[in-house]
Amino acid sequence: MSRRRQIYEGKAKVLFEGPEPGTIVQYFKDDASAFNNKKRGTITGKGVLNNRISEFLMLRLAEIGIPTHFVRRLNMREQLVRELEMIPIGVVVRNLAAGSLSTRLGIPEGTSLPRSIIEYYLKRDELQDPLVSEEHITAFGWASTQELDEIVQIALRVNDFLTGLFLGINIRLVDFKLEFGRLYGEDEMRIVVADEISPDNCRLWDARTREKMDKDRFRQDLGRVEEGYQEVARRLGILPEGGPGDLKGPRAIQ
Ligand code: C5P
Repeated sequence: MSRRRQIYEGKAKVLFEGPEPGTIVQYFKDDASAFNNKKRGTITGKGVLNNRISEFLMLRLAEIGIPTHFVRRLNMREQLVRELEMIPIGVVVRNLAAGSLSTRLGIPEGTSLPRSIIEYYLKRDELQDPLVSEEHITAFGWASTQELDEIVQIALRVNDFLTGLFLGINIRLVDFKLEFGRLYGEDEMRIVVADEISPDNCRLWDARTREKMDKDRFRQDLGRVEEGYQEVARRLGILPEGGPGDLKGPRAIQ
């Protein structure tokens, strides 16, 4: 077993140095956290499923010309991605009211929004990821105006595409969070989609019954949390071959 240098350990993922310069290995854990780390737990098989779901969605985005950091899946819990200069902002796109929007503005969960709404959150654990405005982002230099324009364009294209993709399998994309980074080429820089796209950072409801199939099952103690993630993978047609029994997968090689 080769020893790899760990670059970073987050709440749901561990990042290791990749096999070639400019690459990173993302290892998906079963650990779950919510409410700025106040609630913690384990969702068995989540890492395996999120690895697959994120692979599937990033590949579909690449097919329609949206640049992402994804290179290839390596095994049950790991994928190879491009190393980026990360932009320290979580970009949330909302279609229906839920979560912090409902709480902050008193809009009942499930209310259709007049149009898709984009919000920005500064990624700073010690500040509990505060909501910030475009003014903050450009004034403090977290991203330039031009970069932000590109981020908005990409986020809205991702929203349109994923909304359709999920509706096709009877799932309503309520909201989701994207992260972006800068990928430097020979003589140009591109903004690309990073991190993951999975039920950890999307709200996904059954289109007919509105049953939740995402991390809100964990956040709100709704029970059958694993089943929510499995159902999303099943509808996408990517549940691992061995079925739910196959979800534990190998441990991270360090
Ligand atoms: O909690 P809130 O309503 O602001 O979340 C909006 C969306 O962003 C949800 O889909 C949630 O899963 C995602 N999110 C995330 N990481 C965070 C906060 C929110 O993926 N730290």
